[in-house]
Amino acid sequence: MPGTVKDIIESLGVPHTEVELIVVNGESVPFAYVVQSGDRIAAYPMFESFDVTSELRVRPRVLRETKFILDVHLGKLAAYLRMLGFDTVYENGFGDTELVRISSEQHRILLTRDRGLLKYRAVTHGSLVRETDSRRQLAEIVARFDLAGSLQPFTRCMVCNGSLAEIAKEQVRTLLPPRVASTFEEFRQCSQCGRIYWKGSHYQRMQRWVSELVTTAAA
Ligand SMILES: [Zn+2]
Repeated sequence: MPGTVKDIIESLGVPHTEVELIVVNGESVPFAYVVQSGDRIAAYPMFESFDVTSELRVRPRVLRETKFILDVHLGKLAAYLRMLGFDTVYENGFGDTELVRISSEQHRILLTRDRGLLKYRAVTHGSLVRETDSRRQLAEIVARFDLAGSLQPFTRCMVCNGSLAEIAKEQVRTLLPPRVASTFEEFRQCSQCGRIYWKGSHYQRMQRWVSELVTTAAA
């Protein structure tokens, strides 16, 4: 029975969202290519790290605006991606259908540990998270999508994904714990939820971690 190259690749357990390039008998083909007897097929993974644009027929363009939507069990990873400045949608109430719809409508990379979710036809950009520890997951994603050069740490709210803007101490003084008000001078406030950030011990630890991520990625 003839089948498309997409069906055949998925029947082997590889979600089509993980595939960036398919070569049949030496030529790049789209997912809809109907496989013929005797075809030699090679499938290559998402090439976010290399420029293969000239080879690419699977989808019209590589997704390079790096925005994410995360599956419900990846809440910590969501906070960490926001810490690095990436626009990351996460709600623990989202079902599969909603995740797939938002990913497709907003051109967000869907991150999940559920292989089945990536097999939905509407998911054009998705990626399987292999690590289980959230800090290792962050390193995994930074490496896979070659993000080390595009980090904008501490520009986004870790809780709600809103963007942070500098705000004068006088404007927020009444909202601060007294110890914080007497110790720190620079503050940022979330444009969406109003949460206030300052460069306390949490910030220092995060900053060391971000430097490690960048150093590791460059090695
Ligand atoms: Zn916020």
